[in-house]
Amino acid sequence: MNAEMVTSSAQLDEQKSPSPSVASETPTKINLMGMSRSELEQFFVELGEKKFRAGQVMKWIHQFFVTDFAEMSNISGKLRAKLEQICEIRVPEVVHRNYSKDGTRKWVFRVGDGAGSLVETVLIPADDKTGARKTLCISSQVGCALDCSFCSTGKQGFQRDLSPDEIIGQLWVANYSYMEEVAVAERERTVTNVVMMGMGEPLLNYDAVLSSMQIMLDDFAYGMSKRRVTLSTSGVVPKIDQLAKDIDVALAISLHAPNDELRNELVPINKKYPLKELIAACQRYITKDGNESARKHVTIEYVMLDGVNDQPEHAQQMLKLLKNLPSKINLIPFNPFPHAPYGRSSRNRIMAFQKTLSDAGFVCTIRQTRGDDIDAACGQLVGQVADRTRRAAQWKKKVEEKNMIVRVTGDPDS
Ligand code: SAH
Ligand code: SF4
Repeated sequence: MNAEMVTSSAQLDEQKSPSPSVASETPTKINLMGMSRSELEQFFVELGEKKFRAGQVMKWIHQFFVTDFAEMSNISGKLRAKLEQICEIRVPEVVHRNYSKDGTRKWVFRVGDGAGSLVETVLIPADDKTGARKTLCISSQVGCALDCSFCSTGKQGFQRDLSPDEIIGQLWVANYSYMEEVAVAERERTVTNVVMMGMGEPLLNYDAVLSSMQIMLDDFAYGMSKRRVTLSTSGVVPKIDQLAKDIDVALAISLHAPNDELRNELVPINKKYPLKELIAACQRYITKDGNESARKHVTIEYVMLDGVNDQPEHAQQMLKLLKNLPSKINLIPFNPFPHAPYGRSSRNRIMAFQKTLSDAGFVCTIRQTRGDDIDAACGQLVGQVADRTRRAAQWKKKVEEKNMIVRVTGDPDS
């Protein structure tokens, strides 16, 4: 999610985690954390138990934030003993956390051995009318294979997919962080919105992301509104169609360029799935039926890179490209990181870009930034913890060789 997450690290109260995020001593036990309701039902049926146990256990885990079977008071002692023997409720290990005075919270999780196995999660409280919105930016992979040229996670390369328990575990930890001192019976779910905009490309870890989102929407778990769960993708076209069949959540597209020539460079997956195909997939994703659907429009994310994609002609091309796609556009001021070959567009430039789109009738917002600290965007905090110097240096050389800073524009339809 990046720029929105920026907070001066000077403001942050850095703390070592005292959370219950302790890695299991018995890793062979089945972890119930990442199981969807249908999987848990099957699990209980195989144990010779009734299906409804699944919903009961899910509530304990995801609504009361209980990890000890002994506390599950509506489950018989006999079944609790059986569960303790063969399974566990394991939370991903928190190695670092920052709680800012402005309400932003960040966690770094270790999901394997070594510095290359860290992922991060950021919670942003919104200053909306009620003041109650809390948006969590969740990671889906360690690193990312897609190597977008402006993205710090991409520079890290791909390490591995996260499992469902590691994905939903991020939401669990964020919710629990508000409930640590609260008696079990009084615990509530605090996170109101989820955006899959952390590290990784969620559609390239499809099954794990899908079952995690099912847990987010499930009334026996987080019971989140489908319009408050957003998947962001750089444009894995076949998986967008698959997603439309499997679940009703909001979709955000990391567009960043209004023509193929420029997008091929900024978002290399565009070479495989060019704009025409991507826009068509978005149009198919939009559903006509059901007012309650999360799929009334797509959100277009557009990072503003100084002199690269922020010129008046780019705004004109956007109008043409999006004219038949119900969309809301979110302009993201670029969040710089070490060796990045881009700068952030000026405020005036961003506002001019916004005006062109708004005047044409688009809802176009500018994402708020909260400072300029380079470590705060998703993927960038991990960058501080992990040693990525070698890759970053290689990449900088590649960029310098290609001298790719300023780009000529083209026609989106060509
Ligand atoms: N892989 C998915 C989701 C993770 S990236 C995707 O690309 O959509 C989440 C968002 O942060 C994307 O829109 C991405 O383009 C944007 N982003 C990445 N690096 C950024 C940076 N340095 N400054 C601002 N936004 C950035
Ligand atoms: Fe991967 Fe998204 Fe970053 Fe591109 S912007 S490298 S797809 S995480």
